Amino acid sequence: MYLALARKYRPKRFADVAVQSHVSNTLKGAIARGRVAHGYLLCGPRGVGKTTLARVLAMALNCERRAHGAGLGAEGTQPSEETQAASPAGAGEPCGECASCTRIWSGSASLDVIEIDAASNRGVDDARELRERAMYAPTAEGRFKVYIVDEAHMLTREAWNALLKILEEPPPRVIFVFATTDPQRITQAAAPVMSRLQRFDFKRISPVEVRERLTTVLAAEGVGADDDALAMIARAADGSMRDALSLTDQVLSMGEGRLTATAVRGALGLVPEDEYLGLLELIAERRAVDVFPAVGRLAESGIDFAVFLAGLADLLRAQLAVTLGGDAPDVSDQTRSALRARRDRFTAPDLLRMLGAIAEIEPFYRKSSQQQLLLETLLVRFALLDRTVELEDLLRGIGDGGGAQTSTPSTSRRVPDAPRPSPRRAEPPAAAPRADGPSAPPKPAPRAALDLNVLCERWGDIVDRVRSMGRPMLVSALEHALPVAVSAQGTITVQLEQPNEIFEKTIESGAAEVLSAVAGTFDGVTRLLVRRVEQPAAPTSDVPRRLTEDQARQERAQMLRKKDPALDAAIEALDLELLE
Ligand SMILES: [Zn+2]
Repeated sequence: MYLALARKYRPKRFADVAVQSHVSNTLKGAIARGRVAHGYLLCGPRGVGKTTLARVLAMALNCERRAHGAGLGAEGTQPSEETQAASPAGAGEPCGECASCTRIWSGSASLDVIEIDAASNRGVDDARELRERAMYAPTAEGRFKVYIVDEAHMLTREAWNALLKILEEPPPRVIFVFATTDPQRITQAAAPVMSRLQRFDFKRISPVEVRERLTTVLAAEGVGADDDALAMIARAADGSMRDALSLTDQVLSMGEGRLTATAVRGALGLVPEDEYLGLLELIAERRAVDVFPAVGRLAESGIDFAVFLAGLADLLRAQLAVTLGGDAPDVSDQTRSALRARRDRFTAPDLLRMLGAIAEIEPFYRKSSQQQLLLETLLVRFALLDRTVELEDLLRGIGDGGGAQTSTPSTSRRVPDAPRPSPRRAEPPAAAPRADGPSAPPKPAPRAALDLNVLCERWGDIVDRVRSMGRPMLVSALEHALPVAVSAQGTITVQLEQPNEIFEKTIESGAAEVLSAVAGTFDGVTRLLVRRVEQPAAPTSDVPRRLTEDQARQERAQMLRKKDPALDAAIEALDLELLE
């Protein structure tokens, strides 16, 4: 019979729970010194070894081969202080092999170790029963009765009250171990109980630790594994060793023998690497028009767009690392060489802008009913990133009477956009640089003379730049405003679409940020004014602005079309974005 890996390799000794050594060493020491508490609270995310350690504790307390067991925690609340250092190496450790250890380890019925799932036994009746049963002494001299209560935060206040009475006057050799993912809720429901418990906080298991453990387990199983496959499982397990092992089970059950990236993708429903690389190529080649069929194919294959977006961010992050001259860890050889081949086709600021845009939509993406549309818009934007620069040149050329060429782009400067840090990711993304750090060179793009049409045209980018400064309120205000006038002295006047005093004040107080964002594109900007909109907006005041906006858009569309007919299909997507 096939035994699940998580079960087969469940630790039998404290030393095996190396990842939580701060907890296992303390518990082992407590047993070795005969100073076991009556109540423990084990807190931490799911799958990090809380129940496992509770069982090892129960095994250690009841191990038949434990030296001189009689001295341990003899009577009452204060266990005896007799030292148990008889066998120094294994002091406090269970043998893991005797009948008692085996029974507890496998979770099979034991009179002295009782596991309770509070999620299904949360009422006061259960707690009363528990209390009554706890009054009975352990089955034999020298044994301990251990209650392991899982999901302890699910217990009701009444249940806690009943338990509190036991913990206040604990029967000899009765020990409670509560495990929870949510200690806060216990504090709220049963603060007095908390003070009776010795608390341990388990740490989230890092991807590196998950990979180390998987490597050990697979070696013991005689199964080979590719590094990128292990990395993928470690990422998907998200800090849970149990999940990592069951995912591995899942992949192995597909019967490919070796653990490969392809097998892992198949088992986890991840998007094939080739799809990502194809999209990256499409962005590099600026084939905006091909975005729609590519995303359509993904939709047909039934992928989870949210998972896809996360994978895309991982790939862009890896590309950024490679573009900056570093290495991309945790990717396959195929991807690594593809990223290296594209090294010079992406600039770091462009990659940062893409990552910033993903971080921007990620919070609401999973819940959106428009995932496909959002993804398409995003990818079209990525594919057109460089085009916007070309468009800038074009417009500036027209504005300057066609004189300016971009032959010396290195002499001008542009503020690089910074992505907001993605809160989801604790793992350091391969040397992702801070935007203000020295590693993100400013993108060379010529600045233009201040011009109302061009300013309207570039307004979306300017708002994006303010967004990257982390000013969400200011961004909201700017999204409802448009430039309506520029002066020869460098004053920009903006006006809100609708009267909104709060937005007006927000923009006024954020004038410095707006000006610095504008200064990335235009020369000679000195001042920002907000034109107040009167309550009943005069119908005529709205007309010039709309004309300006529409004209700018039409001009831009015409120019793009003239310049590159293949972009026709993408214009619509671009408009969508501007209208947002
Ligand atoms: Zn034993």
